[in-house]
Amino acid sequence: MRHLPSVLIVEDESAIAELIAVNLRHNGFRPTWAMDSESAQRELDAVLPDVILLDWMLPGESGLVLAKRWRANPRSKAVPIIMLTARGDEADRVAGLDAGADDYIAKPFSTKELLARVRAVLRRRAPEQVAGLVSIGALALDGATYRVTFNDQLLKLGPIEFKLLHYLMCHPEHVQSRGQLLDKVWGDHVFIEERTVDVHVKRLREALGLEAGKMLETVRGIGYRLTAQMPTA
Ligand code: CA
Repeated sequence: MRHLPSVLIVEDESAIAELIAVNLRHNGFRPTWAMDSESAQRELDAVLPDVILLDWMLPGESGLVLAKRWRANPRSKAVPIIMLTARGDEADRVAGLDAGADDYIAKPFSTKELLARVRAVLRRRAPEQVAGLVSIGALALDGATYRVTFNDQLLKLGPIEFKLLHYLMCHPEHVQSRGQLLDKVWGDHVFIEERTVDVHVKRLREALGLEAGKMLETVRGIGYRLTAQMPTA
């Protein structure tokens, strides 16, 4: 099954939202629409979209306030935000980008331009796609052939453990919370509990074996980290 990128449109003008949604749908995206900050927050709490199109002028909280809040939240901070606005001057542009927006489109915009911007932020934010070769110390993972080796010995991993390891290897030395791992590895399925992460980390450790398993550290109270600095003890 092909993954259709989801786009959350936060826009109070229904005519504009509809126009955007139709164009996105025709171009292989899955749009959802929120018409104010409250429903946008609800959407985001339920499922993380791949991209957010965020209108600046909204009833209640402004798009700028929302962008700042979503950027400050570890769960949503990596979701690309494109600000939509009638305000086109330099100061507003800077304020939008300062608030954490990845890009900025002034209304009126062409749908062609909008699609190009959406694709561009998706390309920039796609490190989680499994492809290519990653290696840390003696541990190597090949996304093209789905092979993992440690000291050139082939390891057997299940598909989730493979994705989990790939994500951790792409972000070495960084502690990842269970919530972050759920978002990045499981794709933010709301029905999966954080305990599930622990189960798969345990399986991954077992699959890695005694030596390589030591690279996968538990950081108490926070989450997990893959490190090249293996303890000598
Ligand atoms: Ca508006």
